Amino acid sequence: MKTIIEPFKIKSVEPIRMTTREEREGILAEAGYNLFLVRAEDVLIDFLTDSGTSSMSSEQWAAVMRGDESYAGARSFYRFDERVRSITGFPIVIPTHQGRAAEKILFHVLHRDGAIYIGNTHFDTTRANIEQLNDEAIDLPIPEALVPARMHPFKGNIDLEKLAATLARHGDRVRAVIMTVTNNSGGGQPVSMENLREAFRLARSHGALCVIDACRFAENAYFIQQREPGYERKSVLEIAREMFSLADASTMSAKKDGLANIGGFLTLRDEDLAAQARNLLILTEGFPTYGGMAGRDMEAIAQGLQEVLAEDYLRYRIRSVEYFSEKLQSGGVPMILPPGGHAIYLDAAAFLEHIPREQFPGQVLANELFLAGGIRGVEIGTVMFGKRDPESGRTRHPAMELVRLAIPRRVYTQSHVDFAAEVILEVHQRRTELRGLRMTYEAPFLRHFTARFEPHPA
Ligand SMILES: *Cc1c(COP(=O)(O)O)cnc(C)c1O
Repeated sequence: MKTIIEPFKIKSVEPIRMTTREEREGILAEAGYNLFLVRAEDVLIDFLTDSGTSSMSSEQWAAVMRGDESYAGARSFYRFDERVRSITGFPIVIPTHQGRAAEKILFHVLHRDGAIYIGNTHFDTTRANIEQLNDEAIDLPIPEALVPARMHPFKGNIDLEKLAATLARHGDRVRAVIMTVTNNSGGGQPVSMENLREAFRLARSHGALCVIDACRFAENAYFIQQREPGYERKSVLEIAREMFSLADASTMSAKKDGLANIGGFLTLRDEDLAAQARNLLILTEGFPTYGGMAGRDMEAIAQGLQEVLAEDYLRYRIRSVEYFSEKLQSGGVPMILPPGGHAIYLDAAAFLEHIPREQFPGQVLANELFLAGGIRGVEIGTVMFGKRDPESGRTRHPAMELVRLAIPRRVYTQSHVDFAAEVILEVHQRRTELRGLRMTYEAPFLRHFTARFEPHPA
């Protein structure tokens, strides 16, 4: 059969509140034309993020009831610890309340004056945790990654030539090479096993730690199985184990491929690093057998990590994102190709060619998808990453102007995707009618969360 069905039945439902375009116009104006300031109940289909938004399975909810909330040595910790060790092969597992806490601990332990980290593309919390210590994060994606319409099976790869040159230039100032799988900031694009192996071989020969940012490790492993010669017959679990076997450490947000609503962990091989990490953990997260999570969270993650590796789940997951993108491509909607594992990234600069970057075409497009169909995506462009030069007052624009539609795991069905595609195609048909925005308020940091706008007068 050609049709790939959702590999689950629905046991508990959460109603969506229907709204009209008129109502949404009022809601958006009140929110200062910023979708972060809209209430979730006013959204029909929420593609803001795939982080912490997964539906849990009946087995996960049953595991929640088995949560052991003992302060020290809880049964739930040992179940969690054993599951993480058996999937990753790492001997040491340090629980944290989410991914960024694992990052914070790792970078504090590795910190030295002038430390440098090199990655395929550092995720924003990873970069922020590095820069907060006055250390430096360098992104070296392959050149294909910066051209939205350029096809490449492993657009998440690191540029190995540049990596070798950068390692040679900075020597032992490079504390770690961090490979983010899949590469979230680069569009949810996978990294090949070959690239991972070679990047870590180079890192090791310069004494740098080899780190995997493992948030979407299962999606990456599935792409390797589908696209990399020699892996067709390996199970996703075997491929995931091989990926982890190449690394010295990994950080994980269980809000992604943990299929849980909160949680994370740091894995290590080195006892000495682990001892330092645990000291920090106790200071900021909690005792080493819960580290910021409740026992029930660790139970849900232990179960989720097993379910996320089910191949019928991954086939449905990756196929539904691809199906979404095919529908949009059939109407000529510009986007990053091929689609990544967890999201569609619309190319707003090409979609709204007539709106200058100063008038925030990404924000305009995200807002129109909400007005037209109650869909919430997120601008990843000038609002999020544009930097104003304090001297000239002019804004420097990031390389791409995107709207990300992240697909929560196991939450929406095919008809939700069909509806979303219909909305986007309809907006695309009348795109020349859309008008720009003007920013009326911006905070000094992370302005996208609280910025306010109004329709541009011109
Ligand atoms: C979400 C994410 C993180 C941070 O995890 P949180 O649980 O949100 O703190 C780090 N890296 C990547 C690639 C992510 O997607």
